[in-house]
Amino acid sequence: MTTLLAKNATLVVTMDGERRELRDAGLFARDGFIEQVALTSELPVSADTVLDLRDQILLPGLVNCHHHLDQVLTRNLPRAQNTDLFPWLRALYPVLIRRTPDASRTATIIGLAELALSGCTTSFDHTYIFQNGCTLDDQIHAARELGVRFVAARGGVSLGGLLPDTCVEKESVILADSHRLIQQYHTIGCGSMLQIVLAPGSLFSVTADMMRESASLAREYGVRLHTHLCETADEERYMLEHFQMRPVAYLDTLGWIADDVWYAHAIHVNDEEIRLFGQRGTGVCHCPSSNMRLASGIAPVKKYLECDVKVGIGVDGSASNDSSNLLLEVREALLLARLKMGLFPPEGSKQPFPSSDPLRTRELMTAREALEIATRGGAQVLGRSDIGALEPGKCADFFTLDLNTVGYAGALSDPVAAVVFCAPQHAYYTVVGGCLIVDKGEIATLNLDSVIREHNCHAAALASEV
Ligand SMILES: [Zn+2]
Repeated sequence: MTTLLAKNATLVVTMDGERRELRDAGLFARDGFIEQVALTSELPVSADTVLDLRDQILLPGLVNCHHHLDQVLTRNLPRAQNTDLFPWLRALYPVLIRRTPDASRTATIIGLAELALSGCTTSFDHTYIFQNGCTLDDQIHAARELGVRFVAARGGVSLGGLLPDTCVEKESVILADSHRLIQQYHTIGCGSMLQIVLAPGSLFSVTADMMRESASLAREYGVRLHTHLCETADEERYMLEHFQMRPVAYLDTLGWIADDVWYAHAIHVNDEEIRLFGQRGTGVCHCPSSNMRLASGIAPVKKYLECDVKVGIGVDGSASNDSSNLLLEVREALLLARLKMGLFPPEGSKQPFPSSDPLRTRELMTAREALEIATRGGAQVLGRSDIGALEPGKCADFFTLDLNTVGYAGALSDPVAAVVFCAPQHAYYTVVGGCLIVDKGEIATLNLDSVIREHNCHAAALASEV
């Protein structure tokens, strides 16, 4: 039995059912699970590990709902800097298909470490190209080395065309490996450190049969389904031309509009499709930086929330974001939702924020709303009731930020909002299941500097061969 006491925090943001924010407070955890969230004066006085959080804010660990960790090898690639999605894909894949298992390991560690330094304790990753000896096992082992909670997708590409033919695997191979991975690694129940998801690359990179078979296999084992959806207007045109259906209608014919499915992006959707997601319990992962970087569009996040759609946040990329900083993404989500309101005011109103409208501030996304999407929202999207909030019985997953820093100076009349409005700062502590992953601003579980050196050699070698 191991215990952890986090005490003296200036503020604890619980994100519990009442959204309590407690001053001079902390939490007590045993064997990775929270037993108590309370004022410091009400907590036990000792534990195996004690964190003194004076001048710090304590928040639930952020949940990242969409990523491609292998792209840490291709960040900022010159020939993919100034393109939108489809040419960006074509520029990237000749490099990514030649990555090695060792390169995949370093990319995964670095991406997850950057996430942990930004307060992320649970991350999903969507990998769908498995060539050159790479398997999902490489990333699973890398996530274990670092110690974060991981949700790994076995994706796949079975149709060439938009992606190079060298990305293609036989559908029987993809399904057999998916089956193996579920049986070998997928764990359920409170505190699961590793789950498997089935996630074909996109609607246009696998057949309808593959989508149906993936759904059938996933439902046999109770694992979730995921893919990209409605990321660009090009995708909508492609689907109308080749399938005579909008993307959401096509997915509905395949049994993919359901409560065990979530989609990355979901930008180009109409009101009817948004309502359908809400009715069926289908989730959405908002990826603001990636959507701006690739000029894809602005997802209707406020509308999703109004229609009770489960919404989480993802860093996506890394090559369509060039970072894996989830706290930055929370800020981008807030700003982009506000920009959308300005560019596309609600129907019927001539101006986005008429000064006579007493409800106008309710229409703007708030800092707390953005944080809620990245915590409770992400947990819902991943189908997890054991993370996303600080409450007794939930995982001891949290992070802290030092408030006594230049980035927050002058903004501490509301420390919770400062975390979102001000430039994102590195976590001081990040804790997963009661274990320190970030300790005083540094990765504590491995030698990150040596991984970075090794990784940069892999990335340089890959870039030079193209
Ligand atoms: Zn993606």
